[in-house]
Amino acid sequence: PARTRFAPSPTGFLHLGSLRTALFNYLLAKRTGGQFVLRIEDTDQKRTVEGAEEALFDILRWTGLQWDEGPEVGGSLGPYRQSERSHIHQEHAQQLLETGHAYRCFCSIDRLRALAERRRALGLTSEYDRTCASIPPEDAAARAANGESHVIRLRVPDSYPAYFDVVYGHIKQQQTTIRHGEPAFEDPVLIKQDGLPTYHLANVVDDHLMDITHVIRGIEWMPSTPKHVFMYDAFGWTPPTFCHVGLLQGDNGQKLSKRTGGVPVSEYRRLGYLPEALLNFVALLGWNNRSQSDILPLEALAQNFHIKDLTKGNTKVNFGKLEYLQKAYVAGYASDANPQAEEFLTSVTAAIQTALNVTFPELPELVKSTEYIRTILDADIKNYVTPLKFVEQHDYLFQPTPNFDSPEAAGYRSKMSAEDVIRGKEDVVTLIKVLQARRKRDIPFDDEFIDSMLAENWDKEAQKDIQRILRYALAGGRSGPGIHMIMLLLGEEQCIQRLQEVRW
Ligand code: GLU
Repeated sequence: PARTRFAPSPTGFLHLGSLRTALFNYLLAKRTGGQFVLRIEDTDQKRTVEGAEEALFDILRWTGLQWDEGPEVGGSLGPYRQSERSHIHQEHAQQLLETGHAYRCFCSIDRLRALAERRRALGLTSEYDRTCASIPPEDAAARAANGESHVIRLRVPDSYPAYFDVVYGHIKQQQTTIRHGEPAFEDPVLIKQDGLPTYHLANVVDDHLMDITHVIRGIEWMPSTPKHVFMYDAFGWTPPTFCHVGLLQGDNGQKLSKRTGGVPVSEYRRLGYLPEALLNFVALLGWNNRSQSDILPLEALAQNFHIKDLTKGNTKVNFGKLEYLQKAYVAGYASDANPQAEEFLTSVTAAIQTALNVTFPELPELVKSTEYIRTILDADIKNYVTPLKFVEQHDYLFQPTPNFDSPEAAGYRSKMSAEDVIRGKEDVVTLIKVLQARRKRDIPFDDEFIDSMLAENWDKEAQKDIQRILRYALAGGRSGPGIHMIMLLLGEEQCIQRLQEVRW
């Protein structure tokens, strides 16, 4: 069984990339019958954002990625917040001091700054010159005991050990010392002046003490891994198995940004995406799914997930896939086979109602009514993605006139030849006449009437054309429910009015 962890820093919102990291770790733990641990990496108090932790718990729970151990859940290897573990980190730094893998550095900030500037002026990177590495440990310990301000640095080896990454394969030994110009050493800080650990120390110590077997994390952490492997060696521990996964990119090949869909996960929730759809969506980013279907709810994902199927390189995110998956899950929820279908549809209806009030605040009561919305939803559930999109897609059912400026309407117009328009205008005249004539006869405006109206006035070949004309005139060319349904939803008055006012 694998013990995995998700180790976010509470510095902001959870984004898609981090959700994917959490999910992969969760799936590996579940497939192997292991545990998924949540650890809060809040060692950098300056970067910690008020409320970020609670928001993180909330959104993780919404997705369904419940952690087996961690804050609010407990577990035998806690505490699970690094800020509550600094004494443990300090003890371990002490251990590295004793074995000579670390040393105390008393250099002042000013000295380090001057050093960095000098090196930069020479075109060199700003590593440390190891001045304090030669202080005899007893002297250093005495100065520290006297309260002299200092940090603890890792004494890096000449080259970092090689290691194996499940995704990237054999990672060769890497040189650490920079010998051009003057010797300089990476020697990262493990314990800061305030006594708190840095990421490297806390991460390694906690992964070990929490019995973590596999670390799946973003590729941005890969440059740290050789240092970590060296630290495991220094402690005499076996490192976990590392799997680094690439970045998520927008369709422009750049890092996901707001414009390319890189919004916080909470935003997807707010928009009305289903957590199953979202998880299914991110699972398919950078993981080679070998099963028959792309539609894999959490348990199915867990059954199929193997780290050897994680893919190398960055992944472009296609948000069309999210819509596709959303529709698939909606269909499942709304199907007769689901005993909770009614509940689901009721909540979606309420969400559409809310969206409607936002998009079109001044609507008459009738088109805002639960009943009316529910009828539209039932008629076109297969096209439902989110409340806002639904309102936009069905705007013509909420507004007094269709939107002839929409891309769909423009698309319709661009496909019409001058002759089509002439014929269309004639058709519209016929339609209006027939509809007005019905009023004089005592027959209801219903499905049957619409059927016979269309069949009597247009032959078989013309049926397609008349449907198109009607969709353009009544709905501004929007796809959605069938023409019959649209006519019934609008009512006869509206139909006649729209036919009279159609913009060609
Ligand atoms: N705290 C790091 C983060 O915010 C964890 C990186 C890791 O998984 O080692 O992603």
